[in-house]
Amino acid sequence: MIAVVGSFNMDLFIEVSRFPVPGEAIHGKNFRRASGGKGANQAYAIARMGRKSAIIGAVGQDLFGDEMLANLRAAGVDISGVVRRGDVASGTAMIVLDAAGQNQIVVANGANNTLTADEVKRHAALFKQSKAVITQLETTLEATAAALRAARQGGAIAVLNPAPFIPVCDELLCLCDWIIPNEGEATKLSGIKVGSIESAAKAARAIKERSQCPNVIVTLGANGVWIDAGSSTGHIPGFCVQALDTVGAGDTFIGAFAVQLAEGADARESARFGCAAAAISVTRRGAQASMPTRAEVERFLRTAR
Ligand code: ADP
Repeated sequence: MIAVVGSFNMDLFIEVSRFPVPGEAIHGKNFRRASGGKGANQAYAIARMGRKSAIIGAVGQDLFGDEMLANLRAAGVDISGVVRRGDVASGTAMIVLDAAGQNQIVVANGANNTLTADEVKRHAALFKQSKAVITQLETTLEATAAALRAARQGGAIAVLNPAPFIPVCDELLCLCDWIIPNEGEATKLSGIKVGSIESAAKAARAIKERSQCPNVIVTLGANGVWIDAGSSTGHIPGFCVQALDTVGAGDTFIGAFAVQLAEGADARESARFGCAAAAISVTRRGAQASMPTRAEVERFLRTAR
């Protein structure tokens, strides 16, 4: 079992030829919606790998909440730890895409912002059964800290994906066994601009020093990852694929990496597996919709260079 303490967001998309100016109403097309949120995406990625996952989070007592929960349940995720709120809407992101491929995104965190430490702590039995606990920064800091502490107490591997970035104190970071930022988040956590493998290595070292967390992975988009974890330290190149849509790549990486690590694989091997899963996901559209199964990743790794 891998437990995720994190967010749910319904993503609403509309395509436009150009963005409207303030006060202007324009016509868009191809409206669609997709279940997302970093917590839900990571729980979904784990379930796609055939591993039991459970999510603790909060959604509204509304149609989006119903749909997001049904979607995770259908993938096999245990959703019994999700609280329903009658007084606040489910997290929602409105995403406008223009013809040049740029986007404008407005997120209303809604119920995600209401998750309390007590609601997390209530699931001590779940944390005890879990090999790993994964959390991000898209709910409340108190819920994130409670999740990392519960992981410690239950003997699970504690993973923090510091996304979307908000400033966090060293006391929270030192509760982690793994911190996994992307380039932007690593830059903000370390104060070192990450734009190359060398700078990622420096940033990972600085994050380790600041946090006392023993293991850091910086994800580098098409360039793969830099892993700083004892004898597993080094660069793992990305797999060469034709990228179509990179939304959810980080969530796919983290889910697949955590599954391998929880099963006792070596850290480098786990990160390579995560890179393969994420590489497949960028060749398909969507976040959850693009996530591969374990069999697909294994097949990909047999043929990949
Ligand atoms: P995030 O989605 O959080 O910003 P990244 O962009 O760093 O994270 O992507 C996460 C992982 O997904 C990378 O470490 C890499 O393994 C894989 N990935 C992302 N973009 C590509 C790409 N264009 N080609 C191959 N792999 C990719």
